[in-house]
Amino acid sequence: MQHLNFQQGPIRPPSEANSLLIRTTQGCPWNKCSFCTLFKGMDFSIRPVEEIKKDIWAAKAFYKGRKFETCFLQDGDSFAMETADLLEVLKTLKEAFPDLKQISSYGRAQTMSKKSAEEMKAICDAGLNMLYCGMESGSIDVLKKMKKGITPKSILKSAQHAKQAGMKMMTFIILGLGGKELSDSHVRETAELLNQIDPEEIRVLSLAVKPGTELDDMVQNGSFTPLSEVEMVQEQQTLIEQLNGISSKFGNFHSINLLMEINGQLPADKSQFLSTIERFLSLPLEKQYNFILGRRIHYYNTMDDMHNQLYFDTVQRELAKANVEVLDDVFYQLRQRMI
Ligand code: SF4
Repeated sequence: MQHLNFQQGPIRPPSEANSLLIRTTQGCPWNKCSFCTLFKGMDFSIRPVEEIKKDIWAAKAFYKGRKFETCFLQDGDSFAMETADLLEVLKTLKEAFPDLKQISSYGRAQTMSKKSAEEMKAICDAGLNMLYCGMESGSIDVLKKMKKGITPKSILKSAQHAKQAGMKMMTFIILGLGGKELSDSHVRETAELLNQIDPEEIRVLSLAVKPGTELDDMVQNGSFTPLSEVEMVQEQQTLIEQLNGISSKFGNFHSINLLMEINGQLPADKSQFLSTIERFLSLPLEKQYNFILGRRIHYYNTMDDMHNQLYFDTVQRELAKANVEVLDDVFYQLRQRMI
């Protein structure tokens, strides 16, 4: 088997599974968010341009003429590169892989807002036309509590900056990130900010608290009360209700989410999203538990899978073994195992 002789970072968005992966930076320039362990223990660095270019040609040789239409630049923030260097990398990528139609990267609001409008336009014109934004929340209090190091204002400014340059934007939101304490402002202010940004795509994730994080400490010391699965569904309901005047795709893609059937286009599918949520919320409690457990132990993809009697009965037997009083804790721990 031929071994990779170019660098690959530890993560990529799920939607980039078939993309060419080229590493421009290592780690995350911030690395302080209370809920994140992605790059813990790794110092951030920007890779030298010549090394990245060598990697691009090595990838070309490795893939032996395979045509890529999409490329994702790893790791945490390609916008931390000097603009001239990033342009050089993009030029080389297009030379080596002329079929590329989309080049994407994570971009932190703070780094992007340091680039001028002209620089952002040049970067987009050179091919970096898709941005992944880990906004997580539009609430200043939640962003502060989670030590995101960004504000709703800086998120909005950088999003407008990227859109004016012609970049598409996919924004990630974490349900439950305010805990019970900040749930209202988390949902309300996130919807407000998304309505202002109108990104191409919004993806939601359900919170799973990683052991060993600062957020885990907050749970232990009582300053953060996690939402139950049902409460996270209710957050999604309120969020969708409050998304207005935007034409974003909206989706649940990660298996950590419960209602994978909520996936479509706003505003056309809004009422369908809300009916799906209503369908779940109006299930009798035991069926709600059956569905949640069935999702968490991988029997179900959608609520329709509960019609499979064999699956339903199997999940029901597992449910009978659990103590109903502590079911929320069981689901909390099962979510932790999924990240
Ligand atoms: S900015 Fe992203 S990668 Fe960096 S610490 Fe925060 S969540 Fe993790």
